[in-house]
Amino acid sequence: MKKKFAIIGSGIAGLTLANLLHKEKKNDFMVYEKNESLPLDEGYGIQLSTNSIRILNEINFDKISSENIYHPKGVDFYNIQNKKICDLDLIQFNTNNNKYTTLQRSTLIEFLKDDIYTQHLRFGKRIKQVSELKGKVLIKFDDNTNDLVDYVIGADGIFSNTRTFFEKKKNKPVFKNAIAIRTILNSTSGLDIDQSKISLMMGKNCHLVIYPINKNKILNFVCILRHKYADPDNVKTLLEEVIKQNSNLKKAFEKNLKSWPLYATPKILPSSNSKVFYIGDAFNGFLPTLAQGAGQSIESAFELYKLIKNERVDIQNIYFQDRSKRAKIIKRRSNFNFFIFHLSSKIMQEIRNYFMKFLLKRKSFINSYLGTVYKN
Ligand SMILES: Cc1cc2nc3c(=O)[nH]c(=O)nc-3n(C[C@H](O)[C@H](O)[C@H](O)COP(=O)(O)OP(=O)(O)OC[C@H]3O[C@@H](n4cnc5c(N)ncnc54)[C@H](O)[C@@H]3O)c2cc1C
Repeated sequence: MKKKFAIIGSGIAGLTLANLLHKEKKNDFMVYEKNESLPLDEGYGIQLSTNSIRILNEINFDKISSENIYHPKGVDFYNIQNKKICDLDLIQFNTNNNKYTTLQRSTLIEFLKDDIYTQHLRFGKRIKQVSELKGKVLIKFDDNTNDLVDYVIGADGIFSNTRTFFEKKKNKPVFKNAIAIRTILNSTSGLDIDQSKISLMMGKNCHLVIYPINKNKILNFVCILRHKYADPDNVKTLLEEVIKQNSNLKKAFEKNLKSWPLYATPKILPSSNSKVFYIGDAFNGFLPTLAQGAGQSIESAFELYKLIKNERVDIQNIYFQDRSKRAKIIKRRSNFNFFIFHLSSKIMQEIRNYFMKFLLKRKSFINSYLGTVYKN
């Protein structure tokens, strides 16, 4: 029987689910976004590994103009002085149609909005009240409109407001004593890196990731910095700690910088309402050190979509079991990367570099550490 879905939030998770439901045309849905528009002027980059590209291809991502995306060949690891330690081949995970991809976040949002923008997306909508009515959920928005739906999908990010309406157990995101600082570079800014790859430089309490986001080789530059009292308004002072380690980085940090503090959700908790599901960061938010935030948003939307499509009974239980298993693996790897990318002791850094050189040559290690993530 035809069901109606209210998707709360038009980020990568919400829009992916909307596209999948749109393609299937079996159920009704509407995406409700609190902002007045989509962030289409945002130039920052995003990495999508093959696990998410495979899903996006189901909604024709393979038709996107190749000018607007990039397929990096691998990852080069450097110390903060720009001395190469080792590399990782990313091509080994690719197939003909399914390649590790980097692009501007706005390119992805633009692609995801296309088919649903007019009929299925409403802006300026914030939930004011929810109640049960005749076995359905009645949502009242703060602009005095409402919707009666069979299912509510919380896709409203790590600080999910939807959770506050439906969940008694608190699971407040915690600050991870770290900050992300981003900019866009038009050239390598004096760094000795291969522009066709992702470059990852590891320093004391910081690491930098630089990668091309389109065929013009515009580079996304992000610095993750550990700091107990990281203040996004005082970025320049924080960056002095990084520039002290390599003065060549000064040029890259002269650009327009945007920063934000990093949070993660402490526990992975199930939904307490059989009619309410959480996807993307609203299900669980973790550190960006495995570049899987968008990937997991896409995966979670796809997992839920398949269960809806196949009209599985006990969807709630199956979804939570599968999603939490997957989220735990990603979370563990992201936390581990966060730890090893930021070592402060010189001796520990040397030991890490030795093991990285050794392990990244081992197929069995690569397959178990990354293959399980990228080939899901
Ligand atoms: C520095 C950094 C680098 C990253 N790099 C990568 C990367 O390379 N690769 C990758 O895969 N991931 C990356 N991520 C993570 C990734 O961006 C996120 O995990 C992902 O965007 C989450 O998508 P989402 O749709 O769940 O949530 P969001 O993108 O947060 O979207 C939530 C949407 O819900 C809306 N909303 C919020 N509250 C309400 C409400 N009350 N009512 C209605 N709407 C609401 C918001 O306005 C927003 O549109 C990175 C993150 C950081 C911080």
